[in-house]
Amino acid sequence: MRTIQDIDVAKKRVLVRCDFDIPLNKKGKVADDFRIKACLPTIKYLIKKRAKIILLAHLDRPGGKVDPSLSLGPVQDKLTELLELSILKTLDCVGRAVEEAVAGLEPGEILLLENLRFHPEEEENNLDFAKKLAHLGDIFVNETFASSHRVHASIVGIPKFLPAVAGLRLTQEVETLAKAISKPEHPLTVVIGGAKALTKIKVIENLSNLADSILLGGVVANVFMKSKGEDIGKSTSDEEGEIYLKKINLDWSKIHLPIDFLPNKNLILDIGPKTVKTFAEIISKSKTIIWNGPMGVAELEEFASGTKEIAQAIAKTSGFTVVGGGDTIAALNKFGLLGKIDYVSVGGGAMLEFLAGSKLPGIEALKLRKKSNLH
Ligand code: ADP
Ligand code: MG
Repeated sequence: MRTIQDIDVAKKRVLVRCDFDIPLNKKGKVADDFRIKACLPTIKYLIKKRAKIILLAHLDRPGGKVDPSLSLGPVQDKLTELLELSILKTLDCVGRAVEEAVAGLEPGEILLLENLRFHPEEEENNLDFAKKLAHLGDIFVNETFASSHRVHASIVGIPKFLPAVAGLRLTQEVETLAKAISKPEHPLTVVIGGAKALTKIKVIENLSNLADSILLGGVVANVFMKSKGEDIGKSTSDEEGEIYLKKINLDWSKIHLPIDFLPNKNLILDIGPKTVKTFAEIISKSKTIIWNGPMGVAELEEFASGTKEIAQAIAKTSGFTVVGGGDTIAALNKFGLLGKIDYVSVGGGAMLEFLAGSKLPGIEALKLRKKSNLH
C-alpha cells in the first residue's frame, strides 16, 4: 500500500475520500468532530505540498436522493473553524458546476463536494459515476478507513481510473490494528452494540474464533434474543440479520446477552444494571477489549447509562483497549473518556471487519495499483 508521502502531489488535483460521516446535533451542527480531526493531517500535508485539494465524502444514509438535512454544509463550517481557512463547497459532487469549481482551484486551496450518497450510483458502485468523479482529479487518496469495507464508487471505483494511495490516518489505522490483532493477549473480549446488525453478526461469526467472550447490546442483542425465541416486544430488530443468524453455526457459549433492560413503551432502549454488572466483571478480567456500538440509544440522556457504565469499565481496565465507530466515539467523548482508550479507530464496522481478518475492498483497491501508474 502506497501513501501520499510516496508520490508528488504539487499542483496536482488530489481527490481525497474523507471520513465525514459524523453525528449532527439538533441544530444541524457537527456534534462530534473526531473523524474530521482525523483527516486533518492529510489535508494539512496536501496544503503544504501545494496540491489542489478536492474532498469527497458521504454523510449518513440519504438513500440516493438529495436530502438537505444531510448536506455537508456543517462539515464545511467545522473544517473552516479547525483549519482557519476558507473552504469552498459545491452543491453537488458531479456535473458542470463542479468541474468549473475544480478548474478554478489554485494550489493549496480546498474544495468540498456535496454528499456522495445523494446519488444512488455511489452505493451501487456505478462505474460511470466513479469515472465522472475520477475525471475531477489526477490522484486519488483514500482517507476513509471507516468506509473501506464498502464496495462503493468513491472507494473502489475511482482507483480503477486514477493512481490511488493511502492517506496518513488510513495508514495509521491499518498499521495499529494489524499490530493489535497479531498476537492479542487473552482473555480477549469483544463488546458489540448499536445498529447495522447484519454487518455486525458477520463479524461476530468471524471474531468468535479469536474472542473468549462476546458481550452484546443494542439492536444486535435484540436480533440474538429474538432468534432464541425471547420476547423483545416492539424493539428494533433486523430481519436480514435474523435470517443470517439462523443460517450460521456459532459458538453460543461465548455469547453474553443482556439479562435486564431499560424499556419504554414496550421498546428495549438500553441494557439494565444487572447486565452492566456482569459485563463489567468480564471486562475487568480481560487483557484485550474491542468495542464497537452503544449498548442502547445513548444519544438520549435517559438511555445512555448502560453505554456510559460499560465505557467506564473499559476505560478503567488495565487491558489493551481498542474502540471504534462514529456513535461509540461520540458517546465516549460526551462522557469525557476518549483519552482513556488505548486506540480509538475512526472505523466501526470497518474496524471490526479488519480485526476479524477480512480484507477491506477499499484497501485492496489501493494495493492493486502498480508503481508504473504513479506519477
Ligand atoms: P457506531 O456508529 O458506533 O458504529 P452504530 O451506528 O452501529 O454504532 O449504532 C448506533 C445506533 O444504534 C444509534 O443510532 C442508537 O440509537 C442505535 N441503537 C442502539 N441501541 C438501540 C436499541 N436498543 N434500539 C434502537 N436503536 C438502538
Ligand atoms: Mg453509527
